[in-house]
Amino acid sequence: MMNGFPPPAEIVPTVIKTSPIEAIGAFRSALEMPNFRIWGTIFVFCLVCSSLTMWFGRHSKDVNKKTRTAVLSACILPLAIGLWVQLIADSPPDWIANVYDAETTVAGQIVLVAYGVIGSNEFFREIENAAGGAHQEAHETIKITAPSLSVLVIGESMRADGLGPQKRTRGPWSMKLDDRVHAGFAAWLPPVCASHDSTETSVPMLITGVTPDRQREADEAPTGLSRLHSAGYDVGWIASGPQGLFAGPEIFKGHGLFWHSKNTWLLNGGTPPLDEDLLPVAKNFISPLTSSSYTGNPKALVLHLWGSHAVYQDTYPKTLFSPDPTGLSEEELENLQYDHSNEYGAKTLETVGEMLDDVKFPAFAVYTSDHGDNLLRDHNGLLRHLGARTSQAATMVPGFVMWNKAAAQSGIPRKVLSKIAKAQHLAQVDLYRIWMALSGLDGKATVIPTESPLVYGAVKLGDKYGPVPCSSLKP
Ligand SMILES: [Zn+2]
Repeated sequence: MMNGFPPPAEIVPTVIKTSPIEAIGAFRSALEMPNFRIWGTIFVFCLVCSSLTMWFGRHSKDVNKKTRTAVLSACILPLAIGLWVQLIADSPPDWIANVYDAETTVAGQIVLVAYGVIGSNEFFREIENAAGGAHQEAHETIKITAPSLSVLVIGESMRADGLGPQKRTRGPWSMKLDDRVHAGFAAWLPPVCASHDSTETSVPMLITGVTPDRQREADEAPTGLSRLHSAGYDVGWIASGPQGLFAGPEIFKGHGLFWHSKNTWLLNGGTPPLDEDLLPVAKNFISPLTSSSYTGNPKALVLHLWGSHAVYQDTYPKTLFSPDPTGLSEEELENLQYDHSNEYGAKTLETVGEMLDDVKFPAFAVYTSDHGDNLLRDHNGLLRHLGARTSQAATMVPGFVMWNKAAAQSGIPRKVLSKIAKAQHLAQVDLYRIWMALSGLDGKATVIPTESPLVYGAVKLGDKYGPVPCSSLKP
């Protein structure tokens, strides 16, 4: 997936497996993407050049000329193939990964460099962030000094139906989360309307509290973590490698912990790092708060998970679930593996809950996903996310808040969430407000659910992207 954008190679299975009419529309939209045309043109140009140089050099008796031709072709062809790879998929198909093994061949390195440098907008965003962050620094007037813990957990591709009380019997971790709710230390929130169906556009809005009608401000507005830092919190940003970077300037100026699991996604043939890799780092960051003699600053942490991103079966340890039964249809297998991935997500959250319980001061964690995902079972002509149109499946996500005993005694979670349960849907910005209010900002005020949540999306194929009511989205 090209950040979820349906690349041409995916059109074929989409046509076969879902709805042909919508898939044709998706293909048209792909052709209209500026990137597609630019890289398509460069690719064809490179391919023509390298073919011509090989063709005209083939009968030459001049050894030097032959060598030059061979070298030129050897340089251009991998580049052309790299661009072609970028056209068809976010991660190359297995056979390309095998042929161009990055660690053993020069050609592989050229492809990967070309792929990484030319292909990925996120790469440029990362450079920008590494240089100080595009977000402005926050300047809060309020100062918070009492020790506490504030955690925002950003999930990935978790649909609203992927986590919640209805999944109680799916596995031990979903059950533990639901038990936690019944014990009074957590709350399932109404389904949340993500602000966009891709990570790149949704996460900046989530972490800044910018609503879809002001989407352009999200890249520069101060982040919630920045606000907490300026209010006196020690801050940390822990992210899964393939998620890229979204942290604010204080993180990149070294004013907070920054940890990123190794992005081995391409190099090891397509397997992302597991989310459990992030947890010991989080635990270490939190550990001073587990001593009641701690007198330092409050701490705030953002955990950006790999979560339930496709390819689903690569997101959890194989030993955690029984082997996939044989004889399942592709759709049934996807349902099973997506469920496993989501249950592993519940396990991650359960561990975060245990960390909160170890803290001797008020501690809470807010969880939501950056967007959902289109599955085969939706039969809606779309696969994964950032589809040719914005679907409900790729937009509606779960929301979950948990807290520890000390926070429960403070009465703050109950006050902040008192109006939330009655809402039919929440907007993503409501989750931001919950995060800030629980952290002691914005007057620890009760969060009033957004009346008509917006999403930055396209309701129908061919629509221009813009802020539209979530309620107008089709399945
Ligand atoms: Zn995402």
